[in-house]
Amino acid sequence: MTAQNIQNIKNAINIIDVIGHFERLRRKGRNYVCKCLFHKENTASFTVNKAKGIYKCFGCGASGDAIKFIQEHLKKDFIEAVKWLGEFYKIPIDETTKESQPRKPARSKPQVTQTPEPVYIPKDLFNASLHCYAENNFVKFLKTQFEPCIVEMLIEKYYIGSSKYYPGAVVFWQVDNCDNIRYGKIMGYDPETGKRIKGEFPQLTSVTRAIINNCTKAEISPPDWALQYDKQETKPQVLFGLHLISEDLGKPIAIVESEKTAIVASVFIPGFIWLATGGKGYEKHNNRGQINEVPELFRDKFKPLAGRNVVLFPDLGAVEDWRELAVKLSDIAPVTVDDYLEKLELAEKCDLCDFLTSDTARRELIDDYKNELIEQAPQTLPEGLAIWEQCRANGLMAKDLHQAHNEILRDYDFDGEGLLIGLKNKNIAA
Ligand code: ZN
Repeated sequence: MTAQNIQNIKNAINIIDVIGHFERLRRKGRNYVCKCLFHKENTASFTVNKAKGIYKCFGCGASGDAIKFIQEHLKKDFIEAVKWLGEFYKIPIDETTKESQPRKPARSKPQVTQTPEPVYIPKDLFNASLHCYAENNFVKFLKTQFEPCIVEMLIEKYYIGSSKYYPGAVVFWQVDNCDNIRYGKIMGYDPETGKRIKGEFPQLTSVTRAIINNCTKAEISPPDWALQYDKQETKPQVLFGLHLISEDLGKPIAIVESEKTAIVASVFIPGFIWLATGGKGYEKHNNRGQINEVPELFRDKFKPLAGRNVVLFPDLGAVEDWRELAVKLSDIAPVTVDDYLEKLELAEKCDLCDFLTSDTARRELIDDYKNELIEQAPQTLPEGLAIWEQCRANGLMAKDLHQAHNEILRDYDFDGEGLLIGLKNKNIAA
């Protein structure tokens, strides 16, 4: 068996098919669950993540990828497990040990003009990027905005990755609603301001480009899949966050331009599933400044949203373009445009993320929390904590909590009483 054989089999693996062959899996949010095959249990704590291609049992700690699963479950060694999977997926294996033997040209298939199967990014590479958050400048920026537990939730939810291609760079993976890894965008951010690194050497590339560049520099040949991927005239891109759409079929979909905005807005405005186009991509203006037509590729990105309620949140100044866009996509899904940024009369250059992370927006959040406390006048610690939990889920940080409490104590003159006792005694709610 050659390294290429192993790679081909790895690329074909869908861990849901493999584990589902032995045990019935049930969808639960982004994951699939079943009762563990490695220990006896009554409730399902065996969790499978299709995008990552891994399983983990929260009962006994068993974990790994599909190959490891076959090794453990069928008591096979690595090569035997790979062979089993090769048979499972009907992938031919060279039994010779020679690497890259010149193969007989494949039987010429009847020429059918069909869109070829897109080449996806291997899960190994995707998983390898889901680490090193201490050096990730985008994650550092998120930490200036949210409590650590919320940042962790965001990393997990949007599959935020890290790359060494630029120092401290982030990877925004485009994972489709069937959990295929379609595209990886590497970008550099300023850890404090959360702004992109642009200028003379803008930090922006794709994962495959980065791999090919690194291989070229090291004078080694890039992996086959990367070359095949790169050869595709149009990369199989999807909306950023698409993997989230089936989690709640009743939730409306919000669409913004940048990945950063989608991630940040998902905390502040949890009533939507937040996706990003990852750039304009539709700009094809004629000389009257109208959008000639929305490129088919851009329309394709919206097709998985058929039947959903979709709201576009344009950046400041892009409202007219996005209105045109909405009309042209209306045969796919009911699309509306929310122009509330436009109505806020803000400083010229601002996107939704800038607004949400601004002092004004945070001030509003603190005031909301104060109002909740005062209206509900919680009388026990659990009641008070429940309100805090709710506000924290909307992005409030511990420092904001202290500020809000101090302001209430000051405004209502509680004479050093505890906040909850004070609210109770003053009977503010009444
Ligand atoms: Zn287990």
